[in-house]
Amino acid sequence: MFWVKGVKHLIKDLASLLRERIIILDGAMGTMLQERGLRPGDCPELFGLEHPEVLEEIHGQYIEAGADIIQTNTFGANRFKLTEYGLQDRVAEINKAAVKAAKKVAGSGALVAIDIGPTGRLLQPAGDATFDQLYEAFREQVVAGAEAGADLVSIETMTDIGELRAAVIAARENTDLPILAHLTFEPNGRTMMGTSPAGAALVLEALGVTAIGANCSGGPKELLPVIEEMARVTGIFLSVEPNAGLPKLENGRTIFPETPESMAVYALSLREAGANLIGGCCGTTPAHIRAMAEILRGLPPVTRRPKRVRALASRSRYVVLSEDSPLHFIGERINPTARKKLGQDIARGSMAMVAEEARKQVEAGAPLIDVNVGVPGIDEPSAMEKAVIAVQSAVDVPISIDSANSAAVEAALKAFVGRPLINSTTGEQKVLERILPLAKKYGAAVLGLCLDEKGIPSTAGERFEIAVRILEQARLYGLREEDIYIDCLVKTAGAEQAQVMETIKCVRMVRERLGLATVLGISNVS
Ligand code: ZN
Repeated sequence: MFWVKGVKHLIKDLASLLRERIIILDGAMGTMLQERGLRPGDCPELFGLEHPEVLEEIHGQYIEAGADIIQTNTFGANRFKLTEYGLQDRVAEINKAAVKAAKKVAGSGALVAIDIGPTGRLLQPAGDATFDQLYEAFREQVVAGAEAGADLVSIETMTDIGELRAAVIAARENTDLPILAHLTFEPNGRTMMGTSPAGAALVLEALGVTAIGANCSGGPKELLPVIEEMARVTGIFLSVEPNAGLPKLENGRTIFPETPESMAVYALSLREAGANLIGGCCGTTPAHIRAMAEILRGLPPVTRRPKRVRALASRSRYVVLSEDSPLHFIGERINPTARKKLGQDIARGSMAMVAEEARKQVEAGAPLIDVNVGVPGIDEPSAMEKAVIAVQSAVDVPISIDSANSAAVEAALKAFVGRPLINSTTGEQKVLERILPLAKKYGAAVLGLCLDEKGIPSTAGERFEIAVRILEQARLYGLREEDIYIDCLVKTAGAEQAQVMETIKCVRMVRERLGLATVLGISNVS
């Protein structure tokens, strides 16, 4: 296989290759290093830096076994992990050297993925890390990898979709490289932090990665249902790297039960379930990769055509808007506009009432809640960040971010883990230019209001034109139809019959002609 080098070609080539055949990833690195002198407690990345010939030998074995993509020895080469070894000032050096060692062996026979693992830090409110801190650590690592010539980014073994999301955004904003995003799942089928495979797929697809999937966790038997569930909700490529089964302790040694032959049989099932990239994690060796590569050789990927899913998601729940459940009630009690006590609390920096209101609304059945902290004169971005963190510690539903201040909208998008709704943009060009790039960057959906500089038009036709403009602009920023919801707007107070009819007409036009989902602000109907 000859690979055309150069980033632009590569993205195209990887995507077209993924449509033609199953791409083989490599297997374990850590256990291979241990067999070659890495001692318990040593920093694997420093060991690699000091022994590039060992890395070259391992990469070479995997390429020879049939791997199309090899992953660098940089799993823990982020600032936080390297700090544990006093190596925090050598992030760029370690990542670049690892990529160079891999590239030296790969030549034109394989692609090199800069491997990104977790930082070991938890996001607020579960831990004390902020989105910006994680983003910065991943940015530093991917930039070094890209500068050294990595062909793509492979993020692995993430236990939290929030951290994975920060890594994906850092990679996408700072490099042109294709991204593979893998989570690790527990025996109950969810990540340690409670995300289901379908929920993860909905969040990650919106962020614009090349492939999503799972690694480590368990063996192929444990990861098969994870891939099946992802395949049901997403059409993007799927990647899987199982361990060689669930490890057992025998005579004080860790044994991985799956043989190359049994892994190969599972590889066929994983392909059948929709996997496009298949490799191995803990306990897998070049022999496992060879057996899988051989059995998959010549087989095309299975075609999946899942329906477009319109959904919003939190870390552990997602809400699908479909024909059967088109109009969801959005709890709008977190809004200080007409609530003096709530406004005073927010201004003082106390989010106790915000959390309490979130809890009450979810108990009353709200599937998503609106967060608005628009108290005049306050630092709204900072209040929004605090409110979103408070809401996430109280409830686990998706949110709608309600603010006219784009810095506050971005603060909420950073602090919220999942796929929120931005409430809202109008058809005004200057608002669209602020809001749509934020939606794209953070994988959010946007509610578009059918009004512009001139206010709410009186006819359905004019409102429809604004909806068309919102959709066209959204497409320019790379958003999809499932990212856009349209509010045709009910004019307030004593709405005359004719006006209500215009709204209903507009809703029908938006649904039938644009295929977009609609939302109605019921609170405006008196
Ligand atoms: Zn593993």
